[in-house]
Amino acid sequence: YQIPAPSNEPVLNYAPGSPEKLAVKKALEEARSKQIDIPMYIGSEEVRTDKKIPVSPPHDHKHILGHFNEGDASHVEQAINAALGVKESWSTMPWEHRASVFLKAADLLAGPYRAKINAATMLGQSKSIYQAEIDSACELIDFLRYNVYYMMKIYEDQPESSTGVWNRLEYRALEGFVFAITPFNFTAIAGNLPASAALMGNTVIWKPAYTQAYSANVIMEVFKEAGLPDGVINLIFVDGPVAGDIVFNHKDFAGLHFTGSTGVFQHLWKTIGANINKYRSYPRIVGETGGKDFIVAHKSALPKVVSTAITRGAFEFQGQKCSAASRVYIPSNIWDDVKKYLIEDIKSIKMGPTEDFTNFFNAVIDEKAFDKIAGYIDGAKANKMNEIIAGGNYDKSKGYFIEPTVIVTQDPSSTTMCEEIFGPVVTIYVYNSEHFEEVLELVDQTSPYALTGSIISQDRFAIDLAMKKLINSAGNFYINDKPTGAVVGQQPFGGARGSGTNDKAGSKLNLLRWVSPRTIKETR
Ligand code: GLU
Repeated sequence: YQIPAPSNEPVLNYAPGSPEKLAVKKALEEARSKQIDIPMYIGSEEVRTDKKIPVSPPHDHKHILGHFNEGDASHVEQAINAALGVKESWSTMPWEHRASVFLKAADLLAGPYRAKINAATMLGQSKSIYQAEIDSACELIDFLRYNVYYMMKIYEDQPESSTGVWNRLEYRALEGFVFAITPFNFTAIAGNLPASAALMGNTVIWKPAYTQAYSANVIMEVFKEAGLPDGVINLIFVDGPVAGDIVFNHKDFAGLHFTGSTGVFQHLWKTIGANINKYRSYPRIVGETGGKDFIVAHKSALPKVVSTAITRGAFEFQGQKCSAASRVYIPSNIWDDVKKYLIEDIKSIKMGPTEDFTNFFNAVIDEKAFDKIAGYIDGAKANKMNEIIAGGNYDKSKGYFIEPTVIVTQDPSSTTMCEEIFGPVVTIYVYNSEHFEEVLELVDQTSPYALTGSIISQDRFAIDLAMKKLINSAGNFYINDKPTGAVVGQQPFGGARGSGTNDKAGSKLNLLRWVSPRTIKETR
């Protein structure tokens, strides 16, 4: 029953004239030429309601790609019943069947569905082709394949036995159903949160962000075509509080798999706590939440390395990554050079719709995000301690476009240095090059989060000092690189403090949360 260790799905390069580029162009044209009606998937049914909510590309918000069907409390009940109905047969079948379904889903995404899911992510979430490819194709495929491999490793992990005694661990699924709440910013995370729990034998209610409905629909099509039995994953579009009211009051609620904001996660945790007497078991609570991720450069750092780390770390996917670099500490001795490179780099960034593959930079997800980010930029402009050295403009007439914006502040505790913005805004604090140790203290103390961070240095002692002083400041710590772009199987991803429960997506540690082992002692 061994399966070979997977390797990462290769990232295709979409060079002009390449077959992958032609395929995505075709998928984009097809998607733009019609309007689709996206159902909820509950049990064996595709559910449609009379509440049709339009879906538009964030970079072209007047164009309608289709509608999704919004449900109400009754649909949440139906989804829970569907999940509970299939739970026993799904969780007790040999694991090879569950593995097969998700391995097939990975193959479908790698082959026939690759162009479709990338086009959906490019249109629905305004990701450039490269960001779509590393997310909705490669990362999702990797999650599915590596999870199967890690599941096998978990099941292999068995206790010692002795003469006349045979001890076993049976990795049961949780008793009840799992609730997966997923964000807009990674199609891979949206697919992985329900899939990882389901792989371990659980059945799931999946509530994606409304702004990801378009690619969520493709994920469901793939799961169905891969042979996922009805009811194992139930996709619902229901308002958060309405869904939460049913789910968190249900005796069979067994686990929450969440990626989203810190505020919402804390609220859900409190709700679960307040209802704890209602549940049969203590629910598993797994969350990846906010970030205020840093880059700290040492006086030995190469200026070009620093500027590339900022440009890519802060501005890929418009900074809408929990991992995005959003506060940067640069020593005064290299600042002039870093600034020169940074301004050049940012000038070369092309902004525009995703359908033009030469655009590195696209729109932010929706009007609410646009207004919030623009508000931070306005606030920064009004603060005399700040100078905007790149960007600072925004325009929502056709799409939600905000220029990549760099703020230089003299106040290391200014608003944009401390609060999560979740957009293309980075704030730089230039420190006295001789005060490296003090600045590390500042890095650690400035934000309540601890997701990702980078040290850029050519000095081994400085790297060592940063690793020690920042031991609890980031769950993913990068040396001489940007703080984004964790690869499944290579850099298990997650943070602590205000950033989450650090259950490392795409690793054995995460999958272990979705089982409740039974210890068996058999005496001969
Ligand atoms: N795993 C992604 C990265 O390493 C970030 C995920 C997120 O934004 O939630 O960049």
